[in-house]
Amino acid sequence: MKPISKYEIQFSGLPLGIHDFEWDLESVFFDERESVEIEGARLKAVVTLTKETRVMILQFIITGELKTICDHCGDELWIDIQTENELHVRFSDETDLSGDEVIYLGTHEYKIDISQYLYEFAFLGLPVKKLHQPGECNPEVERYFELEEGDKKKEKEKDPRWEALEKLKNKV
Ligand SMILES: [Zn+2]
Repeated sequence: MKPISKYEIQFSGLPLGIHDFEWDLESVFFDERESVEIEGARLKAVVTLTKETRVMILQFIITGELKTICDHCGDELWIDIQTENELHVRFSDETDLSGDEVIYLGTHEYKIDISQYLYEFAFLGLPVKKLHQPGECNPEVERYFELEEGDKKKEKEKDPRWEALEKLKNKV
């Protein structure tokens, strides 16, 4: 038997109008989905369902924090998340969940599992560059980078190949 998802909305019995749902998304939610970039979570998701006769609108507001890895120093990093997304649900002969903004449910459907959307929208809340605030990176790694940078400079000064390489780079 397929386990029943906790992240389901049974819309068939709901009257027309606006309905709010709330979920806490913690680390286990992302662990279960084998997320590589997300290592922890303290999120709250508020999903507002607006039910009309032929269409439903799902508005997702996700706020809180996600734990990931700093691109610069590799230490853990909590990032504030605040996202807002909308999904339109229409009814059709066949179920088609492939759309980003509009999905189609077969007319026999009576519930929707929104876990995939919660995951995607939370994930999209992460910035492209995930970095600590200036000065908050791991000091040992910072020092290592500084030393490496210093070595490169020294090499550059004494090694004529660097000069040739620079010239090449400038041409491209
Ligand atoms: Zn860092």
